[in-house]
Amino acid sequence: MSLRASEDVEILRRSLARFVAEEVRPLEKEHRLPGDVSPPAELRRRVRMRSHELGLYAADMPHEVGGAGLSLSERVVLDAEAFSHETVFFEDLMGGPGGPSSILLACNDRQRERYLAPLVRGEITTCFALSEPEAGSDATGLRLRAEKRGARYVLNGSKNIITNAVQCDFAMVFAVTDEARGAMGGITCFLVEKGTPGFSVGRSHTCMGFSGFQGELVFEDCEIPADAILGQEGFGLALALDWINANRIKIGAMAAGVTRRLLAASATHARARRQFGRAIGENQGVQWKLADMATDLFATESMVTCAARMWDEKLDVRKEAAMVKLYASEMVNRAAYEAIQIHGGAGCLVETGLERVYRMVRVYTIVEGTSEIQRMGIARKVLKEHAA
Ligand SMILES: Cc1cc2nc3c(=O)[nH]c(=O)nc-3n(C[C@H](O)[C@H](O)[C@H](O)COP(=O)(O)OP(=O)(O)OC[C@H]3O[C@@H](n4cnc5c(N)ncnc54)[C@H](O)[C@@H]3O)c2cc1C
Repeated sequence: MSLRASEDVEILRRSLARFVAEEVRPLEKEHRLPGDVSPPAELRRRVRMRSHELGLYAADMPHEVGGAGLSLSERVVLDAEAFSHETVFFEDLMGGPGGPSSILLACNDRQRERYLAPLVRGEITTCFALSEPEAGSDATGLRLRAEKRGARYVLNGSKNIITNAVQCDFAMVFAVTDEARGAMGGITCFLVEKGTPGFSVGRSHTCMGFSGFQGELVFEDCEIPADAILGQEGFGLALALDWINANRIKIGAMAAGVTRRLLAASATHARARRQFGRAIGENQGVQWKLADMATDLFATESMVTCAARMWDEKLDVRKEAAMVKLYASEMVNRAAYEAIQIHGGAGCLVETGLERVYRMVRVYTIVEGTSEIQRMGIARKVLKEHAA
């Protein structure tokens, strides 16, 4: 199995490749955008809205909210394509952490119109604000409090290393509403608009690989109405945990897309670069690196295909999604390391673009649950499956 597309999705995949080559890359050149800094908000908006016009942006959201209704199996084909291109607009082609997600299908009618519909059209962006300075892997350690005062809630606390914190129009903020009830029943998701008194963006982080995306959110006596709650009070984490499985599978597809690029560059270089009177690709030491990279890529694509199909069939995919995320995120880091090795000194130069990829993919083993957290989840499931 590999990431193969049906005829309809193949048309979309080709359209995406053309969009990047003919519109997105020229836009980057026109504005001389650096390769490792988030582009200006207005340009990102332009790319998102054009992508939506082409039926690409948020394509896996249901028709009734303005999406193209693609399954996850179809969406991952496009994610892999998007990440096989080198572009600073990678978050804006299909819709990344700042775009619409299935969590927001819990919106009520008012929230749907105000947030979800413009989000799907690419007009505005959001952010998923769960992590805090004292709560990363362990989301049950959240300290941001939402205290109920009459018909309103008052938020106090902060969020840390949040993607799209700086540019988002509204945030999905996870806050403790009932300490005694813990993760299930005690954590609520609120939709909080930028400009709400008491809500501000703190530091913008300079992050390895790509800067300008991550930042802090600060809440100081931030008063919001009760209808800012997304879904049911106390069950914010339940919404997030369901969505996170699909996201982990998408990360697998992204890693596969990046690896396709690394493999193509490495094979091309191995054929062209000559040392000791012959192409370096004629040496077994280099061939084995290419063989391992290609095998890893095939394994990842197969895992992504299989897990996405399970998700579409509404099967319990928690273990498999964790396996995809674990394997793919470590695989793409191996591939980036070996791609630089195959390129020798040239691989370390900014002009080949590989050192940037090397830095960028490092975060893959951290975001959406670290490798250790994935292993923990997989092992727990395995032990349970083999309980006497
Ligand atoms: C680029 C980037 C973007 C991000 N975007 C977002 C975002 O949009 N929204 C958001 O909410 N968060 C975001 N994060 C935060 C991210 O989710 C956390 O960094 C991640 O969950 C890990 O938490 P932590 O950094 O606090 O590490 P910690 O939880 O402190 O872990 C530190 C180390 O200890 C290990 N560890 C912890 N517990 C265990 C255990 N029980 N067993 C074994 N090992 C363990 C971890 O695996 C890790 O190696 C982002 C982070 C980065 C780097």
